[in-house]
Amino acid sequence: MIGVNKWFGDFHVLKDINLTVKSGDRVVICGPSGSGKSTVVRCINRLEEHQSGVIRVDGVELTNDKAAIATIRSEVGMVFQQFNLFPHLSVLDNLILGPMKARGLSRAQATDRAMHYLERVRIPEQADKRPAQLSGGQQQRVAIARSLTMEPKVMLFDEPTSALDPEMISEVLDVMVSLAQDGMTMIVVTHEMGFARKVADQMIFMDGGEIVESGPPEPFFTAPKSGRCQKFLSQIL
Ligand code: ATP
Ligand code: MG
Repeated sequence: MIGVNKWFGDFHVLKDINLTVKSGDRVVICGPSGSGKSTVVRCINRLEEHQSGVIRVDGVELTNDKAAIATIRSEVGMVFQQFNLFPHLSVLDNLILGPMKARGLSRAQATDRAMHYLERVRIPEQADKRPAQLSGGQQQRVAIARSLTMEPKVMLFDEPTSALDPEMISEVLDVMVSLAQDGMTMIVVTHEMGFARKVADQMIFMDGGEIVESGPPEPFFTAPKSGRCQKFLSQIL
C-alpha cells in the first residue's frame, strides 16, 4: 500500500498509509478502537474502497476493474472476529463450497482438500457437525480452515480471537502460530501481544487513521518511540 487514503463521507479514516508486506512476512497491526485497523485490512480485499494511493497484491493493482478485484480476492483469505460460517451447512459443506465454486474442484477433490485443512486446524472429527454445535474456538478454526481451502497467498485476520472466551483463545492462536511457522504471509489485527512477539516480523501501531509507529518487534515493544504507542502498550501489556 502506498499513500493510501480513505474517507467515510467527511471523515478521513485512513491517512497516507504506507505498508509493504513481502511474501512470508507476518505483520501485526494494533492500536486503539476506531484507529482504522479493520479498514486497512478490509481495503486489501476490497470490502472497502480506498480513494487515493495504490494498493497492489502480488503485482496486481486494486482498481475498479472487476477482473483485478476477482484476482486479488482469490489470493487473499480473510478471517473475521465473527466467524461468518453458514449456519445451515455442515462444517464440511462450509469448506467445500469455495473450492468447488471458485476453483472448479469436484466434490471429491474439494472434500479431500477440506479434510486436509480440518486436520491442519486439528478438528477433522467435527466435519459433519453444524457450526452451532461447535465451541467458539472450534468455529474460528473452521473459519481459518475454510480460508485455507482456497490456498490464498496472504491471510488477513481481523481480531480473530476477540470474540472468544479466554480458554479458547490459545487454541486459535496455536493454529495461527503454526501457519506462520509454515511460511504463510499474514496480516493480523490483534491485541494478543504474546502472539505478536512470537511471530511478527513487523509491528504496526495505528492511531487516528495513521501508522504512528512501525518496525520489528524488538524495538517496538521495548522502546516505542512515540508517546501514543508507549501509552497504548502500557495499557495492554
Ligand atoms: P476496533 O478496534 O474497534 O475494531 P478499528 O481500528 O478496526 O477499531 P475501524 O473499524 O477501521 O477501526 O474504523 C475506523 C473509524 O472509521 C471508526 O471511527 C469507525 O467509526 C469509522 N467507520 C468504520 N466503518 C465505517 C463506515 N462504514 N461508515 C462510516 N464510518 C465508518
Ligand atoms: Mg476493527
